[in-house]
Amino acid sequence: MKKIDTLIVHADLFTMRGEGVGYVEDGCVAVDRGRIIEVGTTAELAGEYDPIELIHAENKMVLPGFIDAHIHTSMSMLRGVAQDTKDWMLKGVQPIRYYLKQDYCPEASYINVLEALASGTTTFGEYAPIDHLNLMEVFLDKLGVRSNLAAVVYGWNTLKKSYGVDELFELDDNYTRDVLRKNIDLFYKWKKPDSRTNVMLGVHAPDTVSKEMLLVCHEAAVKHDMRIHMHVAQGDRETVQMLKRYGKRSIPFLDEIGYLDSRLMAVHLTDATEEETRLVASRGASMVLCSGSIGICDGIMPPAAVFQDAGGKVALGSDQSAGNNCNQMINEMKLTAMYNKIKYGDPSVMPAWKTLRMATIEGAQAIGLDKSIGSIEKGKCADIIFIDLVTPTMMPVIKKPFRNHVPNLVYSARGSEICRVMVNGRTLYRDGVFTTVDYKYLLNEFKEKSEQFFEETPWDFDILKESTGWLMQQKEQL
Ligand SMILES: [Zn+2]
Repeated sequence: MKKIDTLIVHADLFTMRGEGVGYVEDGCVAVDRGRIIEVGTTAELAGEYDPIELIHAENKMVLPGFIDAHIHTSMSMLRGVAQDTKDWMLKGVQPIRYYLKQDYCPEASYINVLEALASGTTTFGEYAPIDHLNLMEVFLDKLGVRSNLAAVVYGWNTLKKSYGVDELFELDDNYTRDVLRKNIDLFYKWKKPDSRTNVMLGVHAPDTVSKEMLLVCHEAAVKHDMRIHMHVAQGDRETVQMLKRYGKRSIPFLDEIGYLDSRLMAVHLTDATEEETRLVASRGASMVLCSGSIGICDGIMPPAAVFQDAGGKVALGSDQSAGNNCNQMINEMKLTAMYNKIKYGDPSVMPAWKTLRMATIEGAQAIGLDKSIGSIEKGKCADIIFIDLVTPTMMPVIKKPFRNHVPNLVYSARGSEICRVMVNGRTLYRDGVFTTVDYKYLLNEFKEKSEQFFEETPWDFDILKESTGWLMQQKEQL
């Protein structure tokens, strides 16, 4: 018998191989040195291996870990401060973000990550200002998860307390150049075989970087063979900027300057027309869909179904807790399925299994890491999650003549059913306990620092009266 690190037996195994969910009844997974070395049934494989750790997975749904392709943890302190607000970014968040120093409370961001990990996220597409990213790369690495980092490479002046809705952003090319260099340095720092940390080039958006610097960034991406993580057509605010500055909408503009290709991962496409969406997909770019965030902040369901229909791959992202209010991929799957059904007035649109693929294998394809993650297959990294089926939200469990695991996971589960999360074969979370960080300490730091921040923040209601409908509404209700 071959000695290995871990053998998982008797699982309700959803490998996500092939075109569907790749179900294996009474499934077995052999893991050694962080990799999956064999997948099959327990009857086929159990006698072949002598594991150090034998995991009995009876009554457990076993899946590849979820991929959160787009998450900003830098505004974690602002969860719930600007909900139900029009012009969420410029008028809701910006006047308060103005007072938030990036390094004031890293614990707020760490807790966001732990919230996500405990609900099954194993890959984090962290997209942050470079100073914050430098904190997060260390934390994510220490925690033991997989990350797909990008620095926010932009030129717009975020130090201004508020912008008018149609006021052109001031763009600073020197700042853009400086962050671009740091993003490339970070790419080479982590570029090594079997690295858990991958780095993309985070060109922020077509309206927040000058045309000259957009071209410089693209040239750098080609030279260093980096993929581009970029907000594209992220709302009418961006379209206003683009029309005013260039007389063109974002996607025709990006097409003209050579951005639409397989190097591009386009986030949101909120304001893209159907024709523009098909153009981006047909050029081989991928898309990230943030249903919760765009639904709450803009009241819109982006055109992910059109993108997929045109042959494009779509990943899911939780965006940021200041907009979405949570970082939880089960929530994203559920909202993606539901919003599409409502948008098209058809309950057969966007079935649960399809959203599960977007959170796993299709997400891995969209972020360009499908050779190593996204499914439970021989040779891939052992990023594996376990879901307790003996819970009110997952029962009854039907295995024959059909299965109900996936609809129950997507529409009913809340995240607390996740009982074990493994990255590279190492268990990072089990039955409510994080194995690599001191959760209670971090939570307490977050509590104390957030109380201090909100006590010290000068709540200038004369400014907020114009800026944040929600806060004024609350004040008027006092
Ligand atoms: Zn974003």
